[in-house]
Amino acid sequence: MNFKIVSKGDDRSNQIKLKMKQHLIDFNLNYNKEEPDLVISVGGDGTFLEAFHRYQNRLNQTAFIGIHTGHLGFYADYVPEELEKLVIEIAKTPYQIVEYPLLEVIIRSKTGSQVDSFLALNEATIKTTEGSVVFDVDIKGERFETFRGDGLCISTPSGSTAYNKSLGGGIIHPSLEAIQLTEMASINNRVFRTIGSPLILPKHHTCLLKPLVDRSFLITIDHITHNYTNVKSIQCRVAKEKIRFARFRPFPFWNRVRDSFIQDKR
Ligand code: NAP
Ligand code: MN
Repeated sequence: MNFKIVSKGDDRSNQIKLKMKQHLIDFNLNYNKEEPDLVISVGGDGTFLEAFHRYQNRLNQTAFIGIHTGHLGFYADYVPEELEKLVIEIAKTPYQIVEYPLLEVIIRSKTGSQVDSFLALNEATIKTTEGSVVFDVDIKGERFETFRGDGLCISTPSGSTAYNKSLGGGIIHPSLEAIQLTEMASINNRVFRTIGSPLILPKHHTCLLKPLVDRSFLITIDHITHNYTNVKSIQCRVAKEKIRFARFRPFPFWNRVRDSFIQDKR
């Protein structure tokens, strides 16, 4: 089996990476950066997002696992103290795989010449540095509302505890194949009206955002920010692809929510 370890880059994460790498090589596993079957992220959720984006072109072949060197993460949910046990479990493959839904984002330009497509593990957000954004929001091919405000966030279930949560969105269990649309400071008055509540869309219900006022948009895909001008539309839906996690012990989603946001019972 091929594995790759992505470290946050601080001393502690680098040390854990080195130790784990040596242990796994001792168990006759191959360190392979190009075609890993297992990607181990050592750091935080941010490190995990980087690892995901680095290997997003081979999601069918690669499973992911996260070890946290700071506070408990949603993706980085193993502790360094579990390292020895984890190495033995990994060497013993096959391991259990758990799949979570992803978000697909397709950005089309007005000229029609440019079509960019992205996968997000947490969310996409659309904002601007020039005042507010104005979009027509279509759902499943029908106009739903015109949004005017700071921006919109479209998140995955596992991303629902990240930016989405700060925007008052609901926390969605990742066994539900859905995306959530949350508003950032919508302008609501007699002229402009939006639903106000977060919307949860099932698979195949595509959400299409069509800018009514031309702006330079900041479109974030997880931790990465892109700049776009001349945008015709931004299409969002549940992706066909999924992320696969290697699971070596149960740590239910709601326990992770509790331990991260309420209190750590362990
Ligand atoms: P960051 O500024 O370090 O991330 C902000 C926080 O979100 C960090 O504590 C990070 O954990 C945590 N986080 C990431 N994914 C999460 C998830 N699925 N559930 C719960 N918490 C999560 O930047 P980053 O580490 O590169 O992460 C990028 C993410 O930051 C974006 O995808 C977005 O969700 C989030 N963000 C949130 C806000 C906000 O809430 N106002 C604004 C911008 C971005 P670690 O410390 O373990 O990395
Ligand atoms: Mn971070």
